[in-house]
Formats: sequence, C-alpha cells, structure tokens
Amino acid sequence: MRRDMCHEIPLSRPDIGALEEQLVLQALRSGRLSIGPMVDEFEQQVAARAGCRFGVAVNSGTSGLHLAMRALNIGPGDQVITTPFSFIASSNAILFTGATPVFVDICPRTMNMDPAKVERAITPKTKAILAVETFGNPAYMDQYRAIAARQEIALIEDCCEALGTRHRERPCGSFGRVGVFGFYPNKQVTTGEGGMIVTDDERLAELCRSMRNQGRPLHWRSGQTPSGTSAPSFASWLKHERLGYNYRLSEINAALGVAQMRRLDSIIERRQQVAEQYISRLAGHRHLILPTIDPETFMSWFVFVVRLEASYTAEERERVLNGLRAHDIGCGDYFPCIHLQPFYREQFGFEPGMFPIAESLSHRTIALPFHNELSPREIDCVCQTLDLLIGRENLSKR
Ligand SMILES: *Cc1c(COP(=O)(O)O)cnc(C)c1O
Repeated sequence: MRRDMCHEIPLSRPDIGALEEQLVLQALRSGRLSIGPMVDEFEQQVAARAGCRFGVAVNSGTSGLHLAMRALNIGPGDQVITTPFSFIASSNAILFTGATPVFVDICPRTMNMDPAKVERAITPKTKAILAVETFGNPAYMDQYRAIAARQEIALIEDCCEALGTRHRERPCGSFGRVGVFGFYPNKQVTTGEGGMIVTDDERLAELCRSMRNQGRPLHWRSGQTPSGTSAPSFASWLKHERLGYNYRLSEINAALGVAQMRRLDSIIERRQQVAEQYISRLAGHRHLILPTIDPETFMSWFVFVVRLEASYTAEERERVLNGLRAHDIGCGDYFPCIHLQPFYREQFGFEPGMFPIAESLSHRTIALPFHNELSPREIDCVCQTLDLLIGRENLSKR
C-alpha cells in the first residue's frame, strides 16, 4: 500500500454552511444570548420532526437523559432495563438518579436489545426501559413500546443517534413516553454541544423545563430574565421550586441547530448517498457484515459501522483499526461494552462473558469515515485500504 494513496479522511465532520454562520451571527448581534427565540424555534423544529407536541432544549444529550429520568421520578431502588452496547451516557444517566441499570443482551443483526430478553428482565422494581436506537436503527422500538405498555412502565427512547429516522412512518422520538436527542458534532445535526427532550406529555415537558433552569417556576415571564434587554424583575427568577440544574442551551448553540434543522432533509439525503456508496462497494465482501436495515425503516444514517465476521478476534480488529489510522483514515471501535468499562466492573462486579453477543460484536466492529462531504473517491480509498488490511490478517492466519 502506498502511503500517498489517500489524503487524511476524518471519521466524522460537521456540515456547517452559510446559513449556520448567518443565524449564529444573528444570535450574537441580538443581544440575547440565552433563553430567547432561537431556543424556542429549535424546540419547535425538533419536536415537529419527532412527531411530538413538546421539545425541551438542553445543553447535551446526557443532560436530557438525566432530566427525562428525573421527570419520571426514577431514583434509588429502581431498576431501568438498558443495553450494554451503547455510548456510556445512556447508562450513566440511570446512575445519576441513583437507580440501577439492568443490562440485557442484544440481537446480532440489529444490535438493539433482544425484546424477549427485555421482557424476561422485568422485576417488580423495574421502573422503565431505556432503549437506544443503536447507530440510528429503530429495530424493535414498537416491541419495547408494547412491553412497556403491558407492564405499565415507561419507555425512554435514547434517540440521540436517530434524528430523522422513521419506522412505518413513526418518527424516532415518538416511540417512548419521552425521547432524547443529542447534538454533539458527530451527530446528523449539531449545535456544538446540545440535546433535546421530546414528549407528548405536557407535565413531563414542564418538569424538564423547570429542572433545566435551576428548578425555577414554569411560568416566569420572559423579560424577567437577566439575559433580556428590559429591566428584569428577579422575583420569580430567584424562586426555585425543585432541585434543578443549569442544563440550558444557549441562543448561539440553538441558532446553529435552527440552521441545521432547516437543512435536515438534504443532510439526511446526503448521508444516505454516502451509506449507499459504501454498501454497493462492500456488499458481498467475504469477511465483512454490513448493517441491515428493515425495508419499512426510513434510515437517517448516524455512522457507518461494519463488522468482521465471527472468526475474527479483538486483536485482529485492533490491527485493522491501527492500519486504517496509519493510512490517515479515521475509524472507531463503536462501542466497547458499557458493563466492561473499568468503573462499571469495579462498582457492579461485571465480568466478561455476561453479555456474550454484545461483547462478541463490540470486538469486531469498525466505524468507517462517515460525513456529508465524503467523496466517492474517498469512499473507494477507504474500502480498498480496508480490504487490503483484512487480506493481510487472513494471510497471517494461515
Ligand atoms: C451522543 C449520544 C448521547 C448523548 O451524548 P452527549 O454528548 O451528551 O450529547 C447519548 N446516548 C447515545 C446513544 C449517544 O450516541
């Protein structure tokens, strides 16, 4: 392989254009940098996309999950069923409340929790199911929803990776009692840092709205805030009705989000093109398993993750990742299992072997470069390099 075969190809890259610059500048010049019209508009846009009545913007997806959990009154002694194959925040948010995460293993095809195992994990202490649309795939969401309804527990949808995805015309964000999106720069839509809680439950939305804002009353009038231009009255601004946090999203970040949401359809379409190019280039590869998407799912691609077939070891996958990096191709090992993270092992005594499907998959995944500006030539270069590196592993196996 020649070193100059490709230039540097990042794993991810936000798509920031003229509209984003214009709206951020508008926010900066407005004199209102927090709690203003950009946040309002962003909340309406995301709620509408998610098919929900209410949106509550927060400063990260993790904060959103924490507030959703608190609003559902989940706390010490409660159990929440969730997946070990996810970004750590989905499970950490359960720990923030003092509740216990109960992991269940996943299905290899979809990488989401096995619905039968979810059902079996339910105990009298189970307060909720926290389901993640892994890599944006909404598989089994309707089944989790049915289980939660039957058991009279809440379904919390961690849809941080699924903005714009629909299954049988139901948008992600609307499967659960409450859904949470994240807007870190590698997501389909970014605000730099940010998140959004979506729900049809007005009471729950209001609780989240209060808790993101230091537990302030729900109905303090705008114009009373120190961020406004009119003389503020601090009467209700300094009243705190419940334990709250500062999880507010700034107007600057929200402006970025408003611009991104206006362009969402074209962002999703562009990402679909990139995914299709990868699929047509890698389909039929003898040693790779590609993502499988239900024909009834309209996919908003978050990342493009392939995996080596079952005979490959973690060490072999590591060498392939290092090889890609040595060729300036960004890649990732999404996701190391949450239960095997040092903190979880120490705190809860988790050991390898407890969730064998998640563990086996997590040792073989390869997240390939995936962003809106990836050219067919770059995709070709990534696939060619990947193929050569896998071939090298196969040679050394003999
Ligand atoms: C991105 C993400 C989050 C939220 O991350 P933040 O960085 O806090 O915005 C939560 N859960 C999952 C599954 C994610 O991918």
